Amino acid sequence: MTSTFPAARTAIVTGAASPRGIGRATVSRLARDGWNIGIIDLDGDACRQLAAELETEFGISAAGAGANVADEAAVRAAVDELEAALPQIVALVNIAGISSATPYLDLDPGEWARVLDVDLNGVHYVSRRVAESMVKSGVGRIVSISSVSAQRGGGTYSKTPYSVAKAGVIGLTRALARELGPLGVTVNAIAPGPIDTDIMGGTLTDERKAAMAADLLVGRVGTVDDIAVAVEFLVREDTAFITGHTLNVDGGLYMN
Ligand code: NAD
Repeated sequence: MTSTFPAARTAIVTGAASPRGIGRATVSRLARDGWNIGIIDLDGDACRQLAAELETEFGISAAGAGANVADEAAVRAAVDELEAALPQIVALVNIAGISSATPYLDLDPGEWARVLDVDLNGVHYVSRRVAESMVKSGVGRIVSISSVSAQRGGGTYSKTPYSVAKAGVIGLTRALARELGPLGVTVNAIAPGPIDTDIMGGTLTDERKAAMAADLLVGRVGTVDDIAVAVEFLVREDTAFITGHTLNVDGGLYMN
């Protein structure tokens, strides 16, 4: 099925409120392309403030709603609110996530559940709610941020529950691609390598960046824009033939 985008379209982006994060760079890039933007992150005020900034800078419509993506009822309420305020939802970008550096033998059940709840169940809850709207209109793009950690068993900062959750995101992506493809919705994942944000235990020092870059083929760690441009590509109308794919954006860290 090849479906046409409406003239006015909205991208829902989770995890966009962090000022130095991948989500923040992504909403700017999508707004620059003319997407209207719905933001979901933990702090509702921060979401609404970012939405106002995007409206001023890019002349699009934007709205924000606070929700913990691990809370399905809160997710559904937030998407309801954004859908009522904005044009047709055509894209969903699942970016919200947390890291977890606890070694396996030190894990307690709470840490395992905390990471799986946000990094895997959160992607499911938002995807499920947004997919309900997309299939009604017969067009959609879902892009979820996995990690090279899913493919290499960690190796950068986060450990087991994070790798498991991010591997789950790849499985979810493939299964959703299969079910939603005939209904006009493509579903893809991005597996970033190490990106210069604050998620790996705070802002990266030059020494940590150099150590991470030593494993990469391009001589540097990634930037938030390296990921945002990949999202921008996968939500385009004319990338409708790409689905069920995991796009590594990792400086050559993992080749498959
Ligand atoms: P970040 O910490 O800057 O951004 C994470 C965002 O998610 C924040 O805005 C945070 O408030 C939000 N968030 C966290 N828990 C949430 C919850 N329960 N509900 C709603 N929002 C929540 O980090 P980032 O590096 O920009 O990470 C973005 C995504 O990219 C994450 O999924 C992360 O796992 C993934 N990723 C990052 C890297 C990297 O090296 N930075 C590598 C691979 C994958």
